[in-house]
Amino acid sequence: MAYPKLFAPGPVDVSPETFAAMSQTMIGHRGSDFEALYASLQPGLQEIFGTSRPVFLSTSSAWGVMEGALRNLVRNKVLCLCCGAFSDKWFDVAKKLGYEADKIQVEWGEAIDPEAVRAKLAEGGFDTVTLIHSETSTGVLNDLAGIAAAVKSFPDTMLIVDTVSSLSTVPVDMDANGVDVMLAGVQKALALPPGLAVFAVSEAAMERAKATPNRGYYFDFIEFAKNAAVNNTPSTPAISLLFGLQYILGQIAAEGLQARFARHAATNALIHAWGARHGFELFAPEGRRSNALTCFKTPEGFDLSGFIKRLKNEHHFLINGGYGKIKGLTFRISNMGNETPATMEELIAAMDQVLG
Ligand SMILES: *Cc1c(COP(=O)(O)O)cnc(C)c1O
Repeated sequence: MAYPKLFAPGPVDVSPETFAAMSQTMIGHRGSDFEALYASLQPGLQEIFGTSRPVFLSTSSAWGVMEGALRNLVRNKVLCLCCGAFSDKWFDVAKKLGYEADKIQVEWGEAIDPEAVRAKLAEGGFDTVTLIHSETSTGVLNDLAGIAAAVKSFPDTMLIVDTVSSLSTVPVDMDANGVDVMLAGVQKALALPPGLAVFAVSEAAMERAKATPNRGYYFDFIEFAKNAAVNNTPSTPAISLLFGLQYILGQIAAEGLQARFARHAATNALIHAWGARHGFELFAPEGRRSNALTCFKTPEGFDLSGFIKRLKNEHHFLINGGYGKIKGLTFRISNMGNETPATMEELIAAMDQVLG
């Protein structure tokens, strides 16, 4: 085996069946075959988003849409909810785009408090808020419903939510929560190769976008909506990835979304139990932990890089040794995508062997 199997939180392992689905005969994107492919994806995507809105397909990584959403929605000032590497970076990206930006910053490993969001927005001046639902760098799952309720109590304040490592692992309920833009890259919870992002936009956010100048072209929500109305995309999409997405959505429909949530809870619990057996403490607080990955604190004196290296060399499994400023201080194990209790037990047996 040339490469180890990925148990790192993204990209994650892609099944041979997914790759087979992706290697279908290429089709052109301006024609009825493509329109049928595009249309076939909508019900499954809408179900996992919890939306009746069209779900757009962006040939980019998640960051394309994360930046694009700001360009479509921010008028004066954005509030970024920062609790880890990805959410902190969103604040930097907002400033790089030239927007006035402020943040709520909590320690990495902590969750955002909805009441803090309410208090900050009450200062006034904000028209857009960014939230990462599952902060993949720390394993924290933020209180989406609570934060959304806080944001929605302020009129004309748009809420952009990144669900890259939570979509299809726990409910995200875009419409019920009043989320304005919900987005995800497909290489994490959906277990596809990287290169595609999926996102949906509320009616209010479409109205905001229409009145926002300088939206550019590639991520212009209006272009996406115009093309979606005829089952198409503004520019040539990653068609092979869409074949793969069609396959994965079929798998999700066959499994059932509730069963998929339960499977993630079960596989995640196996990793928690493994950590407890070895005295590894969790980085995220009780009650606010992601179902899709686990972030452990590296114990003092523990040879983390040796552990990861032996797991890779002797068992061909790759876990992650921490991200950003907590690299080395933490390590992360993914149970996203197609993993089952049986495949997680294979990893656990290998990790136990390495630990002796
Ligand atoms: C991985 C990740 C991203 C970045 O995704 P790219 O596909 O690299 O653009 C953003 N947000 C979260 C929560 C992530 O886990």
